[in-house]
Amino acid sequence: MGGRKPILLQINSEQSYIIGIDIGAKHIRFALGNLSGKIICYQTIKVPLNISEDDLIQSLIKQVYVIMDESAILKEKVVGIGIGVNGNVENESGMITYSSKFELHKAYLKQEIENEFHIKVKVENSARAMALGEQWFGVGKGFSNLLCINVGYDVCAGLIINNQLVKGKHNLAGNIGHMVIDLNGPVCSCGQVGCLKAFICHDALKRMVLTEVYAGRNTSLIECMKGDMEKISGKIIQKAAKKGDSLSIELLKNIGQSLGVACTNMINIFNPDIIIIGGGIGKADEFYMDELKKVVRQRLVTTEGKETEIVASKLGDKATVIGAITLIITELYEMNSTP
Ligand SMILES: [Zn+2]
Repeated sequence: MGGRKPILLQINSEQSYIIGIDIGAKHIRFALGNLSGKIICYQTIKVPLNISEDDLIQSLIKQVYVIMDESAILKEKVVGIGIGVNGNVENESGMITYSSKFELHKAYLKQEIENEFHIKVKVENSARAMALGEQWFGVGKGFSNLLCINVGYDVCAGLIINNQLVKGKHNLAGNIGHMVIDLNGPVCSCGQVGCLKAFICHDALKRMVLTEVYAGRNTSLIECMKGDMEKISGKIIQKAAKKGDSLSIELLKNIGQSLGVACTNMINIFNPDIIIIGGGIGKADEFYMDELKKVVRQRLVTTEGKETEIVASKLGDKATVIGAITLIITELYEMNSTP
């Protein structure tokens, strides 16, 4: 970690605990962990469709009580709650100003949860939380400049340069889902054409599978989704690919190519030490990574750029929740190192 020694972690890891929450498109994950990033208790709940802001906050509060009870950790030992959410977050207020999945246009999660538990609450975009988690406890350990791409219902990037999270003037940095990778590409949910999201995310996968099926292609994906195309996900495609489904293998290779273009652009702009691919698609690297790297090698001009390490996250489904815990750890660490 850029020369900083984690003294606080060694002293307090057995005394204090943190709750991490990952608000995803379909599930909310909760983890109670210690200051070494070790998860003691982990739970997942489904996100009801069209959940209101109030209902979301109440679900979070209820589940935090549940995980505190089940972990048998004294409530006084829980020192903070970190939250990663798929959306734009104002860091000071912790207010969610935009989320493509939920109607959370002015959600005061931080305030409401702090009022309930009287402990520190931090809210951050899930890809940024994930990037922090990867740097402290994942494959990003030891790197000062890293880019973490979270591919799921949406695609977003968390960027750390010189050990600092890059946020931008309006906290919009890393919104790579709407990076245009093909001026003549398909229409994106934002109304523009050719965005990265329109090639690799949920709606894109649904469109591509339906096109092939209507054209007469045989695929085990139809059976896997039991007739509900909304169920399509990176995980389902990965499972089918592992069993040899040719359409799934092709889709993952295509995703690799699109991610390769996005990674090339990001290397040209930021020149990170390492790029980490996470989220629902992350673990299918045996199918997409070769294509991704091939595109990067073909398109980058400099030898050094071509050598940028690109790896899949090993924290898997827990990457964001560990990142959410890390949001509080970094805060404690900063408080501890203030003279
Ligand atoms: Zn777009």
